[in-house]
Amino acid sequence: MKNIPTIKFKKLFINGEFVDSVSGKTFETVDPRTEEVITEIAEATKEDVDIAVKAARQAFDNGPWPRMPGAERAKIMVKWATLIERNIEEVAALDTIDGGKLYSWCKTVDIPEAANILRYYAGAADKIHGEVFKTSRNLHLYTLMEPIGVVGHIIPWNFPTIMFFTKVAPSLAAGCTMVLKPAEQTPLSALFYAHLAKQAGIPDGVLNVVPGFGSNAGAAITSHMDIDAVSFTGSTETGRRVMQAAALSNLKPVSLELGGKSPIIVFDDADVDKAVDLALFGILHNKGEVCVAFSRVFVQEGVYDEFEKKVVEKVINWVVGDPFDPKVQQGPQTSKVQFDKILSYIEHGKNEGATLLYGGRKVGKKGYYIEPTIFTNVKDDMLIAQDEIFGPVMTLSKFKTIDEAIKKANNTKYGLAAGIVTQNLDIANTVTRSIRAGIIWINCYFAFDNDCPFGGYKMSGFGRDYGLEALHKYLQVKSVATPIYNSPW
Ligand code: NAD
Repeated sequence: MKNIPTIKFKKLFINGEFVDSVSGKTFETVDPRTEEVITEIAEATKEDVDIAVKAARQAFDNGPWPRMPGAERAKIMVKWATLIERNIEEVAALDTIDGGKLYSWCKTVDIPEAANILRYYAGAADKIHGEVFKTSRNLHLYTLMEPIGVVGHIIPWNFPTIMFFTKVAPSLAAGCTMVLKPAEQTPLSALFYAHLAKQAGIPDGVLNVVPGFGSNAGAAITSHMDIDAVSFTGSTETGRRVMQAAALSNLKPVSLELGGKSPIIVFDDADVDKAVDLALFGILHNKGEVCVAFSRVFVQEGVYDEFEKKVVEKVINWVVGDPFDPKVQQGPQTSKVQFDKILSYIEHGKNEGATLLYGGRKVGKKGYYIEPTIFTNVKDDMLIAQDEIFGPVMTLSKFKTIDEAIKKANNTKYGLAAGIVTQNLDIANTVTRSIRAGIIWINCYFAFDNDCPFGGYKMSGFGRDYGLEALHKYLQVKSVATPIYNSPW
């Protein structure tokens, strides 16, 4: 098959070196376009995580990184960003063959954005400081902001590059050292980034990358007694296990970026063509494997019929195929497990009485391709309206009043994102304040910036990635008090 780059990095990255796993075990990573094995990757287990944590601990307790002036850390981070940009085509191809992601999107969005995330937090590295308080007592009282220590990062497979840097960049800026476990489905780019980190001058032991499975390497991180904090992105189900392991080990703080079932609400005054484009992009972008995907579409009765007609007219032309082809809009689902799960939800939707308006079938003979799928006559309590399908499956339903729309939108255990399509400011403001979700997109989707804190309400988790907000996950506040003698107070 064309476009497969040579895979240069297949081992664990510990203490600045690529090493075999202690057990000698490896696991396969599969190309979802072809269902063929790309290569074998060294599999980290608990023993390897222990070695990686020791390296990170040593680098934290005795190494230069936490002691370096922020501006020096920044220089290295900026150099890393430049190296990423120089290797953009190769890493984009790695994410495409590993995760079925659109090559053009990786090359023009994900990877440039990764470099920007590094530069953003590099800019923050020399601006991390505490406060001085004017107390009512005879005290000189101030706070120091210190790096929290050794951080464990665990990331999912849907955005291997963005997730990697969303975790690594702020924790590096804060002066932490770390052990990161990429998802077992998409380990390739993380190892390449580790190689570039070494070239950029990140000292040995500061960044350790341990590909492996969640139940083993992942669990070893969350229950480790010498990891000081865990930053996790993944499913709500796993998030619960992460929190439990942290509680049962050393009570390390955790931050959880979890699942979603985000609504988009289209009001009668909306430009229907634009609303349809937004709703389709909202569910089909990255083949629906997006935590903030607009999987529930609520359309007001005045424009509902027009919306339903136009959504079919447009989705017919949606191009599913090889993600290296620039004309293609949707590649294969990342894994066989995910592919089977989505198809089984589609069957479930049909069985529970929803109407399959469009799609619902696999595409082609090879590869994990699924048609964009639209269900109508969806009741709020149906499984397809409640569970996170994490695939190209839209559920479409009608509402009459604003209150009804708000009630439907909030009728979920999740609270990650929501969309509103209207020109009416009063409606936009009212709905924005009534929906319990971490980000609200008015007349847009996937509008992020490095400055924008991102995280969930309810069972979508807690803690925020992005923005200066994210730095706080990786910092400790130390208060210092000293008496002031001869003070006029
Ligand atoms: P997952 O929870 O199965 O896996 C995520 C990561 O956790 C993987 O690296 C996995 O190996 C690891 N893991 C699994 N079991 C573990 C355990 N017991 N202990 C420690 N680590 C463990 O999720 P997934 O299927 O890889 O990713 C999809 C999910 O991620 C979706 O629910 C999606 O909404 C969510 N997600 C959320 C965000 C966000 O920012 N909120 C972003 C992307 C994805």
